[in-house]
Amino acid sequence: MTTGSDFKAYNEPLKLVLCCDVDPDYPHVPLRDVNTGIIERAPAWMDRKGLNGRMASGEKCLSWKGVEKGIPELIRIVEENGGIKISWFLRSDWMMEKLYGRWAWLVDEYRDTWLKLAKSGHEIGWHPHFQRYDEHTGSWYQELEDEAWIRDCMTIGFENIRKSGFDVRTVKMGWDFHGNFTMNLLNELGLEGDFSANPGMVSHGFKDKSGKHLINVYDWSHTPEHAYFPSKNDYRIPAKKGETSLKIMEMPISVHSSKRTSSAPTAIAKKLVRSLMNKNFARKVPITLNTNEEIFQKAMHEKFSRYSEPLNSYIIIDFHPYDLLEPGILKRIGKNIDTIERISRRAGIGCQFLTAGELMDWLRPHVSVRCGPNEVDGD
Ligand SMILES: [Zn+2]
Repeated sequence: MTTGSDFKAYNEPLKLVLCCDVDPDYPHVPLRDVNTGIIERAPAWMDRKGLNGRMASGEKCLSWKGVEKGIPELIRIVEENGGIKISWFLRSDWMMEKLYGRWAWLVDEYRDTWLKLAKSGHEIGWHPHFQRYDEHTGSWYQELEDEAWIRDCMTIGFENIRKSGFDVRTVKMGWDFHGNFTMNLLNELGLEGDFSANPGMVSHGFKDKSGKHLINVYDWSHTPEHAYFPSKNDYRIPAKKGETSLKIMEMPISVHSSKRTSSAPTAIAKKLVRSLMNKNFARKVPITLNTNEEIFQKAMHEKFSRYSEPLNSYIIIDFHPYDLLEPGILKRIGKNIDTIERISRRAGIGCQFLTAGELMDWLRPHVSVRCGPNEVDGD
């Protein structure tokens, strides 16, 4: 176990960023991973509570109980523990327009909630999904190839969330997907920070309901665990010598080693098996706020054992509103937050909650930038 003496040399408080991808309640049907054959279903407790927002024929049948019930419950805990801020990444994309008639419907529909949160120091960011409806097969899938469609989805989606009155500087992509085209486009649109990377992880996706298309595809196979300014030619890595960095900063979510999975929540165990089958030898899984206490403590100790400089002195954790509806979850989240505070206090450094944008601003001077063929930094 790590002790305080291991990281006395670096006294900067631990920075903690909580990111929420504001999606509807688990809009999945049973899906089969194309590589591993693992079937992904909504967790049983969601089915029991009727929260599995299955979609059929493009009807308006998504439910948002995670937003309506889960978020207010979490905010109550957050208000009891002053100083906790969360970054809320809101949908504004083609699917929202198709189902609700407005790209930034989610922003308008729950505007009072977002306004109240923004006023208390939380951040509003953007979470675009490339979910497209195939009229022939009657199923929703992840558009991966049609760049003209993707460009419209991103350009109009961003324009609409910006017009909604919030200062949107950061983005977290739906299904953690990026390609060179999308990272370069975010850069062009003027977004300052992206939080989509799952370092070292790959997902070759699941077949959609029709079996014809894929969903949940991403590739962060050789992405470092620290923040970087991406290469124009490979979004997954920092710009190389001779290249010019993009201006948008990539801040990968935090991961930890997971050698034992028996007591891990099923979704995480599955993610690990998938990453192994997909030849992710790093054997890492994201640190999640709703992980059981024992695994969470192990992840924190692993994090602190490498705590030595700005690029490893922060933790980025993501979650969804529907996670907050799981029985007993808020208690577990409260305990895990206590664990972070306790371990960092014992280390003599303490911790502070930052929004995504605040972390980005703090990190900027510490992340190296490439400036093209004439650079002279020599490394
Ligand atoms: Zn999402």
